[in-house]
Amino acid sequence: MMRPSLPAMMLALSSLTVSACAADKPAAAAAASEPAPETTAPAAAPDAASDAAMEFVSDDAIARRAEFSEAMRDVEERQKVFGDSLERVSLEGSFAQGGLLFGETEPGAEVRLDGDTVMVGDDGRFVVGFGRDSALTALLVVTLSDGAVERRAIELEDREFPVQRIDGLDQSKVSGFTPAQLEKIAADRVKKDAARETSQTAADWAEGFDWPVTGRISGVFGSQRILNGEPKRPHSGLDIAAPQGTPIRAPAPGVITLAEEGMYFEGGLVLLDHGHWLESAFLHLSRLDVEPGTRVEKGDVIGAVGATGRATGPHLHWSLKWRGRLVDPRLTLGEMPGAGGDEGG
Ligand SMILES: [Zn+2]
Repeated sequence: MMRPSLPAMMLALSSLTVSACAADKPAAAAAASEPAPETTAPAAAPDAASDAAMEFVSDDAIARRAEFSEAMRDVEERQKVFGDSLERVSLEGSFAQGGLLFGETEPGAEVRLDGDTVMVGDDGRFVVGFGRDSALTALLVVTLSDGAVERRAIELEDREFPVQRIDGLDQSKVSGFTPAQLEKIAADRVKKDAARETSQTAADWAEGFDWPVTGRISGVFGSQRILNGEPKRPHSGLDIAAPQGTPIRAPAPGVITLAEEGMYFEGGLVLLDHGHWLESAFLHLSRLDVEPGTRVEKGDVIGAVGATGRATGPHLHWSLKWRGRLVDPRLTLGEMPGAGGDEGG
């Protein structure tokens, strides 16, 4: 599993804290808003505008911050008394925007992230994720089966994502779809929504992720283009350029929930459910080797690299979503095999 970077580690250490207080207070900010679905472009926040956006703090955010501070105080007090000995929750992964945290607690525990219930496996494992523009603090509340409550104040690294402005473009290339295209896009959406109605309870993410293909990184998660002043939706995944026909291997086990050719944006598309609402999407495939319901293990070939759908050349676009929230696949991966120059050819 990837280790957090040093600043993230330091933040993480400051939140490696314990509370065995049985008197849990109700989450003040239980009405935490659900993440925006991928169809909505996040509010534009380029440069100067983002400063203004940073200063705007909603009541919800204030309430959440207050509870966060309280949890930190609570935790500091308890540490003086109990030390680390009562830790019954562990978290590892990327403490950063776009990161996933892999957690383990005791069987039968209930886990809430900012008030939202999180799926916990029979073995006590769980996963939580944070989007590109997530708040920099979050509160994890774990209620153990004996009634004890642990609160973990999570601090996330504030990441910067590349923004590219291109002006003077022919406006017809910037926005607008024909009615026929809109109809096709809506029909595709129905298929994807149907595939995402459930998620399995197996923790197929627990052994970590491997590169599905190797090659030049041609696009990174979270990058954004502003065309003629109109902010486009940030790039939803990781692009790896590879020759047409290169086999794509499952980065982690799971169950195929969709394998469909001819999607308007995605072309050949495979959706893979890793459990606990963590899903991989593989786009632009030239060949599909799986069908819905297929169980795959890490390393199994699921299809081949192509340039179908909206793609300018052969590459794999891999995106990863937790509960509909896009996270950064790169943060789940170690060094690319062969990247050191010892590629076998
Ligand atoms: Zn892409």
